[in-house]
Amino acid sequence: MTNDLENDHRPLPVVLRPVADELLSSWLVRHAAYYGVTGPFFAKWLRLGTPNLSTLDHRLGLEQVARLSEKLRCDPVTLIAMTFVGATSQSAELICRGRVPQMCRACADRHAREGASGAVPRHWRKAWRVTCPACGVALSDTNERPNTRETLRETSPFGGLWREALAGEAIIERFLRGDCSFELSPIALMRALLVQTWRPFGANGCNPIIGWALGTLIPEFDELARPIKRRINHAAVASLPISFRPALLAGLSRAIADPAVLNAIRDETILRGRRAFERLREQARIDAHAAAKSHPT
Ligand SMILES: [Zn+2]
Repeated sequence: MTNDLENDHRPLPVVLRPVADELLSSWLVRHAAYYGVTGPFFAKWLRLGTPNLSTLDHRLGLEQVARLSEKLRCDPVTLIAMTFVGATSQSAELICRGRVPQMCRACADRHAREGASGAVPRHWRKAWRVTCPACGVALSDTNERPNTRETLRETSPFGGLWREALAGEAIIERFLRGDCSFELSPIALMRALLVQTWRPFGANGCNPIIGWALGTLIPEFDELARPIKRRINHAAVASLPISFRPALLAGLSRAIADPAVLNAIRDETILRGRRAFERLREQARIDAHAAAKSHPT
């Protein structure tokens, strides 16, 4: 990659084929590797105005689109579809930042066989996925269990709730695709289920301990979440450790199937937890109404 190419408007000599649903940053990183340079060097050479390729997955200016489509012989619409730029604010909060939290090992093996080793599809960053939409198999946890061939179904302590988790995953997909039949936004409900509360402990209710709204439905959730309580935050659903995701999706599917369970949950939350839960339940109603209006049937 020589300097005389720097002001050149010609496309790259070799443009790699993206894998299905590949993230823009992943595609660019693979090009950098192909040309034997680092990601920041490649970004500078492309004159993208940022050394950090992963920021392009969330923010992409017109000039960057023009530059990339010229150098990579790719039309702008296809480029934008490789990012989360078009995501609504609701789905944007469910996109995991930082290290890729999950992967489909079957797809990763296929990418390697097809010469696209290390490619990252967009759904590996979606905080509501437990299965791969490309091949249907269960995803694997890449943070806590990077070296195992096992999937989330085996490694999550909530693997026993798998069928309900699949129902929860399908609910979020339907909602994001514009299904207007929801009375409550399942995305806001996910937040509501992660609201922290206190639970009475001991014979006379002394020594309260921390719990979560979801723990009313799935008591093991409280037990397993307590040691990592700082990582469980209703304002950051995407940062929930992936091993807890099957529980959250299972709880969501129960709440959507029978909204009366939300009353039982409210009754089990107290003080600030109850106020936050009620506020988010109301938000779920407002969001579902707004979504129905923006996607008229
Ligand atoms: Zn797959």
